[in-house]
Amino acid sequence: PLLTDTFGRRLDRAVAEFPEREALVDVPSGRRWTYAELGRDVDRLARDLLARGVAKGDRVGIWALNCPEWVLVQYATARIGAILVNINPAYRTHELIYVLNQSGVSLLVSQSTYRDSDYRAMVEEAEGRCPGLRETLWIGEWQLLDGEGEFPELSCDEPINIQYTSGTTGFPKGATLSHRNILNNGHCVGELLGYTEQDRVCVAVPFYHCFGMVLGNLAALSHGACVVIASPGFDPAATLRAVAAERATSLYGVPTMFIAELGLPDFAEFDLSSLRTGVMGGSPCPVEVMKRVMTDLHMAEVAIAYGMTETSPVSTQTRRDDDLEHRTATVGRVLPHVEVKVVDPASGRTVPRGEAGELCTRGYSVMLGYWDEPERTAEVVDQEGWMHTGDLAVMREDGYLAVVGRIKDMIIRGGENIYPREIEEFLHGHPGIADVQVVGVPDERYGEEICAFVILRDPAGTLTQAELAEYCRGRLARYKTPREVRVMSSFPMTVSGKVRKNELRELAARGR
Ligand code: ATP
Ligand code: MG
Repeated sequence: PLLTDTFGRRLDRAVAEFPEREALVDVPSGRRWTYAELGRDVDRLARDLLARGVAKGDRVGIWALNCPEWVLVQYATARIGAILVNINPAYRTHELIYVLNQSGVSLLVSQSTYRDSDYRAMVEEAEGRCPGLRETLWIGEWQLLDGEGEFPELSCDEPINIQYTSGTTGFPKGATLSHRNILNNGHCVGELLGYTEQDRVCVAVPFYHCFGMVLGNLAALSHGACVVIASPGFDPAATLRAVAAERATSLYGVPTMFIAELGLPDFAEFDLSSLRTGVMGGSPCPVEVMKRVMTDLHMAEVAIAYGMTETSPVSTQTRRDDDLEHRTATVGRVLPHVEVKVVDPASGRTVPRGEAGELCTRGYSVMLGYWDEPERTAEVVDQEGWMHTGDLAVMREDGYLAVVGRIKDMIIRGGENIYPREIEEFLHGHPGIADVQVVGVPDERYGEEICAFVILRDPAGTLTQAELAEYCRGRLARYKTPREVRVMSSFPMTVSGKVRKNELRELAARGR
């Protein structure tokens, strides 16, 4: 059955059940919390927020890299029914001001520096341009006030979080999520991973994203496990050091992060034998990488998860005993209490198994809506409650779902549908290519043509279109062969580790 807990009740339960077990470890600062200590500090912080006039329904923003205070603020706002607005640490004033105003943040929690950038100057500018913003609190600097107030009664259907999407395809949208949405999703993901209070979860993905916040913090809390913070921003060496030092049993990342960890020159020197499982999500994982994650990283039970911010986030996940084929060719099976269907985007009719169409999902996990944007919500959630994901997928005969790509990324060349991912996977087999992204570019004759952006293994190397065409000849249909090749040293990425294909598309179109 679905949980009807609120966040606060879930925390109380973990505190009562596992008071002496470790709940949170911050490796960079060496600070540690047991569940009893976590419960105590969350309550203190919740009282402080009440004393500052934060009330149920108010929006509290957090703009910070991973740190223990992030987790405390997440639980404290939930305790008092405030709505936490997660702000991407990579944002600068333009995006920061947009998000603060769009969600009406009245209190902002931030940290003073982000690598080489000064947040203070940016927040000062925002304060002048966000009329609703009353107060900014700086992590590590604020004196807790002693509030007296009682914590309000909350229902599990009330909003708890505004989670902005990654902005991979445009300006981010603020998905509003309830206690029910994210508690159930976090709990279920943890259950499928087999979490118990013995587990120690190294969350190398950012907390500001639902991957870190729900699959990380909440899944751990829900099962009495411990969250290990390896570093403020992703750092492959610091991550493996933390896994070894804290004997982590689970590690999270998107494929590019695992590639970076496996590629460390001193990889063999880390003792990773404590690892058992983890979650990989966000984008497809190449087979060779998955093999190494399962053996060299010891994560034999690693799960592939598919989802989106708007669905709290996970809709499908592989199971502990799935084989390599299911872990690389599919994104697993649908989660309990979640429905999926694959439809023809034009007619809305369900397509037969084995055929590609738009993936739609329905169930407890679908967001309450985009914050203050009912029209945009209505564009993606239909009257029957189906979330139209914008992703192309195939429901296979064996009940596993394969994600083919995004509708927006699909290339239509001379009337022929071409899925970039298929070409990318094929080109990954080219010995000189380290990474590749395929996009469509406008073309007078065919409507669209195929352009391949490649990163070469040899940074000084070259690759021409003719050489690539030679490689494809006889092995890949001619209409799928890239007509243009561009060598790059890196791809434009989002902070959550995804390639910004829209930027590549613009780049390709501009170059014509
Ligand atoms: P925006 O909606 O702002 O353009 P975004 O869609 O990247 O950004 P997220 O909600 O973080 O924002 O990401 C969800 C998307 O990520 C999914 O719709 C899907 O395209 C992709 N995705 C997630 N998991 C997987 C996976 N396991 N395999 C392939 N693609 C995935
Ligand atoms: Mg999206």
